[in-house]
Order: sequence, then structure tokens, then C-alpha cells
Amino acid sequence: MINIKFADGSVKSFEAGISADAVAASISPSLRKKCIAARVNGALVDLNRPIVQDVDLELILEDNPEALHILRHSSAHLMAQAVKSIYPNAQFGVGPEIEEGFYYDIDFGDKVLTDADLPEIEKAMVKLAAQNQILSRREVSKEEALKAFASDKYKTELINDLPAGEVITLYSQGDFTDLCRGPHVPSTKWIKNFKLLSLAGAYWRGDSKNKQLTRIYGTSFFSAEALESYLNLVEERKKRDHRKLGKELDLFMLSDYGPGFPFWLPKGMILRRELESFWYKVHLKEGYQLIQTPIMLNKELWIISGHWMNYRENMYTSTIDDQEYAIKPMNCPGGMLVYKRDIHSYKDFPLKVGELGLVHRHEASGALNGLFRVRNFTQDDAHIFMTEDMIVKEIAELVRLYDYMYSVFGLSYHIELSTRPLEKYIGEIATWDRAEKALADALHSIGKEYKVNPGDGAFYGPKLDFKLRDSMNRIWQCGTIQLDMNLPERFDLTYIDQNGEKKRPVMLHRALFGSIERFIGILIEHYAGAFPVWLSPVQVKVIPVNNNLHLDYAKEINALLLDNEIRVEGDYREEKLGYKIREAQTKKIPYQLVLGDKEVADRSVTYRRYGQEEQVNVSIEDFVKMIKQQIKDLK
Ligand SMILES: [Zn+2]
Ligand SMILES: [Zn+2]
Repeated sequence: MINIKFADGSVKSFEAGISADAVAASISPSLRKKCIAARVNGALVDLNRPIVQDVDLELILEDNPEALHILRHSSAHLMAQAVKSIYPNAQFGVGPEIEEGFYYDIDFGDKVLTDADLPEIEKAMVKLAAQNQILSRREVSKEEALKAFASDKYKTELINDLPAGEVITLYSQGDFTDLCRGPHVPSTKWIKNFKLLSLAGAYWRGDSKNKQLTRIYGTSFFSAEALESYLNLVEERKKRDHRKLGKELDLFMLSDYGPGFPFWLPKGMILRRELESFWYKVHLKEGYQLIQTPIMLNKELWIISGHWMNYRENMYTSTIDDQEYAIKPMNCPGGMLVYKRDIHSYKDFPLKVGELGLVHRHEASGALNGLFRVRNFTQDDAHIFMTEDMIVKEIAELVRLYDYMYSVFGLSYHIELSTRPLEKYIGEIATWDRAEKALADALHSIGKEYKVNPGDGAFYGPKLDFKLRDSMNRIWQCGTIQLDMNLPERFDLTYIDQNGEKKRPVMLHRALFGSIERFIGILIEHYAGAFPVWLSPVQVKVIPVNNNLHLDYAKEINALLLDNEIRVEGDYREEKLGYKIREAQTKKIPYQLVLGDKEVADRSVTYRRYGQEEQVNVSIEDFVKMIKQQIKDLK
């Protein structure tokens, strides 16, 4: 007999070798029906795995977030099985579950898969799912695994790369077998509400020297309703695509003369300037000093900073007077030189120095994506110099600042703590451990929850990443706070302490928006192009009902709004009123003023707010007051 301890703390005895499935059934048949998998001593396992010793057991039910991951991962297997049934010669790379679904990278040989092929694969999936095939697990030796996948070069490569002694497991459903650690749903009947979404090219193992495989993306849910609401969201996101809206709203453009180097158009420039003014204003209030460091600096500097050895492949270089230069991929080294220009005292700390700095980084052309992935962007950087005992307080202050700035845009967030990378890092491990602990302590001190991302830190220090959630339920990594105990060392930064002795300061790098370009891309989609008044490139559109009768009044109102620093455009073309109103709508201008006889007679305006049907008549003074207040409130 063995003792099984449940999540609620209760303990029950069972015969050794019992499965979690049978345990669930012994509690209640209805509970068993909702079970997807089990967590045994902390590890997720299949429901039918025999339990042979005393364990802690948690049953993973449908509503557990882990269950959805398992379902989606299992759906990738089902998709592969369906693909194999249609394309027997297909070879398979990897098929993980991802944030909102799953994918599988597949080599279709000479066949070029198109969206038109997806319904057939879906149909085969439906058929296979209905057969309720059991997913069975089998441990094998490396030789057996290699034999099982002798005809699949990708799986063969994966098996060969497995460390010696690692347990290799195969999962079979019907006549299809895949290499996998599991766990999975008990049988294919669980996979009912899925959809194949899109195709993309993906280099085998992410390396452009390798063959490009076809990646099929899909998603899967437990309920039809959840799938439907997700598909609606996907449609809405397509409508909000910032590349499409960027063109329609005249915000930015891209040119083949400079892939990944965005051009800002007049309307986009206003939006950008407003965002930057807001940033400057808040930072000055928070006691930051602002600087600007050069775009290009001598290679020697990048050697000192460590970028030349660790980041060289992403840097653009040039030669000036026979010397090698690099275009800055980060603002930090320039910031270090600014710090070093002067002697600093502990009394100056915390010293906060900010820069909206334009950086250039080489990105593979295939990775470029509108404003989301570009080759030059403006980082809203700052470096904070201080003593080690200030870290906790300063981080707490920063999180409060981030809180405020993100709330202005209605963006919520969660924090992730990324620790030392396994391979590329500079500095001592002990230094890293101390830095990681300081970040964690700071978050504890203000009661902020966070998730740990092992090995995801920058090469020069651990970091806190702020993952924003937009109105379309997407997560964006924007803000970051990085504790750097390495660069001060490399640049030999010092300050004079209370005893008049030279000491090494602690330094934080931090960015709030991350990249201004990317942040604007996010905002475009977050707001669907209908920006709050303060950010809108055009805040008011003035439309006379009849040019012959109301043009003078319209121009007078236009001038009055301009005088009040309200961004206004008049539409004085000889077009039908309805046409002009519709056009102002498509440009998502917050306020439309339609001016006719009534308005001229009582010197009023009739406005319509974007997205609302109601027409409101107010005095021009009240209208100006209202808009100015909204701008002031960042509404
Ligand atoms: Zn699997
Ligand atoms: Zn920095």
C-alpha cells in the first residue's frame, strides 16, 4: 500500500501501482471525467501513469491553466498525425504549445503548403479525434528511438542530441508515434475545439543556415465558446494591425530603401512628439537629468563595455579616419562617459540620468515586422547611479513610476525576474547572485508579485521585465529594470563616500516604453487607432454644413481652437456633408464639429465624439474648456 497526499492536505492509502485516473475515479466518477493529467510530487504526468510510492498528488482538471497547455500540446500531436495521414513523406521538427495555441514545424518536401490546404488537415484531425485514440507512453533506449524515427532526419537529430542517460519517451496514438516528454490528454476525444490559424516559414532550430520548414499555427480550447471568442479576438487584431492603420492614418511608412528603418509621417510625428513630451515632463518631475549621447562611437569604447565581444553580430560598423566605429546598439557606454566627466559624491545619489537615445541593431530581414521589429529605434533609457543600500528603495520608486505611466494608457502588467544566462555573461557569479537577490528583495518590499525567468537576463546583469497586457489580451515586453554591477567595473566608475574614500557605485539601466517605435505600434493596436484626445494627431475636425453659408464661421472656430493649442483641421472641400463626416470617422478623429445655421446664429458648436452617436450642442467656450481639460488629464 502507498499513501497519497492531496492538495487539500488529506492523505489516503491506495494499492501501489494505482494511476491518478483510478484515484480520481475512487473519489467520484464526475471528478474523473474532468481530469486531464496529474501532478505527482510537483511533476506533471499522464493520468494513467502508475504511482508506485508515497506521493503528493494534484489532479489537473479542465479549468486548471496547465490543462490548457496540455490540451494544446496534445493538439499539436493530433495535427502532426493528420498531416502524416495526408502527406506520408512529411518529416517533423518540433511541435510545442505556445502562449495562445500551438505549432508544428514540418518539412513537406517539394510540396508548398498554402492556407487552402489547412481545411483538409483540420478535417483529418476531426476524424482522428473522433476515434478516441489513447495516447500511450513508452520509455525506450536511444537505439530504439533512432530506429523508430529512422526515416525522419529531424527527429533523428533531436534524439542524437539528447544527453546520455536521459529517459527517452515515445507517445503513440493509433499508428502515429512522436518523440515527446509528455504529458498529454488521455485520449484524442479531448481535442474537439481547435482551429488551424496560419502558416509561416521557420528555419530548423531557428538557424538561417538550415532548411526552412513550414510552421503551422493552431489553437485549441476545451469549449466551443472559448474557441469562438478567441477567433473573434484574432479577427479584431487583424483589423487593428498597426501596419494597416499606420498607413490609413498617415502615421509612418517603411521603404525598401531601408528595411526596418521607419519613416515618421506628419501625423505620426505629432503622436510621437506628444508621447515624448509626456515622457520628458514626468522624468523632469521625478528628478532625472536628461542627456543625449552620440550615435557613433569608437570601437575601443565597445571593447571596454564588452559589446564588441558579446553583441558584435548585431552592431553596424563604419570607419572614420582609419579607425573602426560602431553605431550604438545601446545608450549605456555613452552614458558611462558622461558619468565619468566629473567626480561624484554619495551626496549626489541617487543620480538619475535619462536619454531618449536612437539605437541601431541588426535584425534578420525575415524578422522585421512593422514597428514591432525594426533596425533602429529610440530607447527611453535612463541610468541610475547609487549606493548598494539604495537599491531596494529606488526599485520600489521605479515600479511606482512604471505603474503610473502604464496606467495612463490603460495597460496592466506583470513582472518577471530574469536571471543569469547560462552561457554569455560577463562578471562573477557571486556578483550576479547578489544582484538577483537585491531585485527580488525590492519587489518583496513593496509586495509586488513576480515570476522568475531562469537564464533570461542580459549578458551584463539580471533584470526585471514588465510584461504589458493590451486591450487585445496580448502580452508585450516593454519596460525593464536591469541591475548592472559589471559596467561600473569595466568603466571604473567611482564616487566619494562619507569617509572621503573612492567607492564603486551600483547602477540600474531602465527603460519604460522600451522602444518608442514599438510602443507606438502597440498603442496603435491597443486603441485601434482611436487615440485618446491628448495623443490624437488631429483632435478636432471642423465641417461646415454648407460652404456658401457657414465657411466663415467654420474658419473662425478653427482659428480659435488653434489659438487654444488644440490640433484642428477644417474640411472645406466641395463635398457632400455625409461624405466628409464619414471620412473624419475613418480617420478616427476624437471630435467632429458640424457647423450650420443654428451654430452660426448662437455662436455654438455641435460635436460628435468618435465612436458615439450622440450629437451635443455647447457654447464654443465650453467646448474649448472641455477639450483642454481632457488633454490635461491625459484622456
Ligand atoms: Zn507531446
Ligand atoms: Zn543602459
